[in-house]
Amino acid sequence: MSRLTSKLFVISGPSGAGKGTLVARVRKELPGLGLTVSATTRSPRPGEVDGVNYHFLTVEDFERRVAAGEFVEWANVFGNCYGTLVSEVESKLAAGTSLILEIDVQGALQVKERFPEAVLIFIKPPSDEVLRERLIGRGTETPEVVEVRLATAQRELAFADRYDEVLINDDLDEATTELVRIIKKHERN
Ligand code: ADP
Ligand code: 5GP
Repeated sequence: MSRLTSKLFVISGPSGAGKGTLVARVRKELPGLGLTVSATTRSPRPGEVDGVNYHFLTVEDFERRVAAGEFVEWANVFGNCYGTLVSEVESKLAAGTSLILEIDVQGALQVKERFPEAVLIFIKPPSDEVLRERLIGRGTETPEVVEVRLATAQRELAFADRYDEVLINDDLDEATTELVRIIKKHERN
């Protein structure tokens, strides 16, 4: 494995596009890539662990941390607050680790303002139908929440042209290879 230089990669895309799946696969190929644990006010899903999947916060605690300037970025997504803690990013970047932030489009644009050298990567599903199938197939959301996420997807897709790279996640192996290629390309720059 080549030594990673410290870079910030931001991955966004509609819920169900395959961000989490791709990031997990890419990290197997590039184990030096760090991941930040976001904070959220949403409730944990079965199996999710506090401090591992997210820092699960109350609305009051989240708001207190916003006021204290503890977030690099934060946004309201699907009715809950999500944000990246400054402490998560700075400690890892200072250690020379490249980082992936898996965050929504509002947050990604805040990161780009704060860190212009960040590389924004947008993951698109091959079609609206496939996105629906994946979101339903994942089985983690109620039908109502699936509809909210699909409606939001259309607004999110409109932001793709503000990203440095756009990747269509159709065949999983091909998309993984392409994401590894994109990350390596930017690490060399
Ligand atoms: P996101 O993190 O963007 O919300 P996930 O990574 O959870 O999306 O993927 C949503 C669902 O689609 C999961 O069940 C995952 O296994 C599946 N999936 C992801 N990528 C592909 C792909 N290229 N082909 C088929 N299924 C996929
Ligand atoms: P989920 O509820 O499925 O875990 O996440 C929903 C969406 O929240 C994800 O698609 C992701 O884009 C967004 N998200 C997760 N963490 C963060 C974060 O720290 N900041 C922002 N802005 N969005 C996030």
